[in-house]
Amino acid sequence: AAGAAGTGPAHAAPGRPGPAAGPHDHRVRQLLDRMTVEEKLGQLQQLAWGWDTGPGGGASEAAAKAEEEARAGRLGSVLSIFGARTTNALQRVAVEESRLGIPLVFGLDVIHGCWTTFPVPLAQAASFDPDVARTDGEVSAAEARSNGVHWTFSPMMDVTHEPRWGRVAESNGEDPYLTAAFAAAKVRGYQGEPGEGGSAAYGARNRVAACAKHFVAYGGAEGGRDYNTVDVSESRLRNLYLPPFKAALEAGAATVMASFNTISGVPAHGNSHTLTDILKQEWGFDGVVVSDWSGVQELIPHGFAEDGAAAARLALDAGVDMEMTSTHLVTYGKKLLREGRIDGRRLDDAVARVLRLKFDLGLFDDPYVDEGDAIHGPTAATREAARKTAARSMVLLKNDDHPAGKGHPGGKGKVLPLKPSVRSLAVVGPFGDSDDLLGTWSFPEAVKKYPSVTVLDAVRRAAPGAKVTYARGVDAEGEDTGGIPEAVAAAKAADVTVVVVGEPPAMSGEAASRSDIGLPGGQEKLVAAVAATGKPFVVVLVNGRPLTMSGWLDAAPAVLEAWHPGLEAGNAIADVLFGEVVPGGKLPVSFPRAVGQIPVHYNHESTGRPYDAGNKYSSKYLDLPPDPQFPFGHGLSYTTFAVGEPRLSRERIAARALREGDTLEVSVSVTNTGDRAGDEVVQLYVHDLTASITQPVRKLRGFRRVTLKPGASRTVRFRIGADDLGFWTNAPDGEFRVEEGAVDLYVGGSSRATASRRLTIT
Ligand code: BGC
Repeated sequence: AAGAAGTGPAHAAPGRPGPAAGPHDHRVRQLLDRMTVEEKLGQLQQLAWGWDTGPGGGASEAAAKAEEEARAGRLGSVLSIFGARTTNALQRVAVEESRLGIPLVFGLDVIHGCWTTFPVPLAQAASFDPDVARTDGEVSAAEARSNGVHWTFSPMMDVTHEPRWGRVAESNGEDPYLTAAFAAAKVRGYQGEPGEGGSAAYGARNRVAACAKHFVAYGGAEGGRDYNTVDVSESRLRNLYLPPFKAALEAGAATVMASFNTISGVPAHGNSHTLTDILKQEWGFDGVVVSDWSGVQELIPHGFAEDGAAAARLALDAGVDMEMTSTHLVTYGKKLLREGRIDGRRLDDAVARVLRLKFDLGLFDDPYVDEGDAIHGPTAATREAARKTAARSMVLLKNDDHPAGKGHPGGKGKVLPLKPSVRSLAVVGPFGDSDDLLGTWSFPEAVKKYPSVTVLDAVRRAAPGAKVTYARGVDAEGEDTGGIPEAVAAAKAADVTVVVVGEPPAMSGEAASRSDIGLPGGQEKLVAAVAATGKPFVVVLVNGRPLTMSGWLDAAPAVLEAWHPGLEAGNAIADVLFGEVVPGGKLPVSFPRAVGQIPVHYNHESTGRPYDAGNKYSSKYLDLPPDPQFPFGHGLSYTTFAVGEPRLSRERIAARALREGDTLEVSVSVTNTGDRAGDEVVQLYVHDLTASITQPVRKLRGFRRVTLKPGASRTVRFRIGADDLGFWTNAPDGEFRVEEGAVDLYVGGSSRATASRRLTIT
């Protein structure tokens, strides 16, 4: 079996242009020398197989085509294939029946789980604990690899200020620093730690190669409409969208996927500035750039290439190394080469990258998986991991005193946490008894075999002595409100009601943009009707994006954001509702008051007329305050915390010293001032007051989730240096700068943190 160590270089040292020199390069060279042009082009082709056609579903047309191309040596990779037997069978064709026997690399979108579905990535980011992503990555890698999958098209790291965009569910939200931390952790989970000298660890039998996607700025889609135009300045590109990719590559990410959007007029798949100048040259990335699904072909409808041959040439020139599903490179490559319209060295470079990935994965030494080792479902341990990570990702948005709640479940007038000794409880809403809470990009077979635990079942187990009733009330999407009276009757008859509402999984994810991000269908009416009973209730939200809540929020005493929690959904929700787990997640994305405020995010820039309620001519709406309903970093607990004055290891630091690597320390004490143990996420923000490029009013530059017993205190320390205090300026002479001046530092439990300290950079 391929070992974890010594299987090859993960990455070039930063700054090294072009292909790497690594342990496999000799073998890569030897192989390249023996390859015909067709075989070279074949390595750059990835075709879809369509594993969801069923076990051994090789009967599908796509599967037959993949087999034929593999035999002919015209295929480098297959996507959407799964299963030890199935992958081995196709691999055998490539290895034993093609002229050179080059193994195929199998890729699949394992986004937040394979058999064991973890919460959606947006939820994971809400944990403010990158170990959540790492755990998902480790479990997913083992489940996928044992079934013949070598490569996952994850993590997605598109920073976005667009809650209308369905793919916000796949993202880690609106902040580049948080996203970078999660991207790096997920890469490490999938791939393992890079070995000595940066050698790849993903040759191991329980690891997969990761894919940092989508390169780049996809989250900037205008209007939040998927695939839409992105016009972005160089400074924003570098300060907002690129940092997570840099972090993922530093963590060893083997591959990168180009994005569907244009970047200031040039489609990402034809963008040599981003793919070659920045990614490959400046950052020295020597892995594979894969196109997105037919992204090369789409250069034509983008109006960038006039035909398939031009699309192939432009994509290869720009830096795409492998073409997913469209077939322009294999079709036109030979002719383009003959006519001198593509460069043979560039072709060899692309092929070398693909071959190196296969060597690093150990495929030349052992292309098959052991069918006896295939994992066929979650285990008790992976279920436990899914449950813990889901509960850790939940955010308590609101937990007000409720007059009717006195003396009942929450005690002290609060609805939450519920008491397990509650006598009667109603579960209402279309998601209260739903096993479809896995979220977008869940594994088709897992949806059938391992759906999520329902809230109703879990609540029954958590409160065994209670009379628990269920009423659906309304459908998730329909306007029919005929079931509301039954739900109201159930709420009236119960001590407390759990209203489970939100979005069906298909309402977020790719091609699932919404212009209205309220609760769909008649669900708002259901919440209002339950509120009108005057009885205590909690709203549990299951969704893949920020929702607007102005229609019902004031009437709801308690709101728990559970996102799409995955396999153990109901259990994790019950854990938090009953206080088995004290909620400690924070929002990775702002929740707007209304769609008309979008984009509304915490890291916006200052204007010349900052918001001032009393000033008619300040930056605001006539009909709404400019701030969101719930800001980035917000999240409550069942206990309370106090964050002290931040201390600086030094009050001034020279810009030059920072640039040369000097750092300073910010320390702050956090105390649990309540009466039960809980978690606080201490967050550090900076605001550079005067700079040559107007700066965001807050930028996250540190976070730490700590667990504290009642009355306990802890000192949290953050190191900050040039990376944290500097920024990129704009082209043509764009550069990273650390400028002199004053910087405000804010520390606290949300982006509205007020504990502050000023640092002067001399
Ligand atoms: C998505 C990618 C995904 C690919 C392969 C595309 O439509 O944009 O994120 O990896 O399909 O399934």
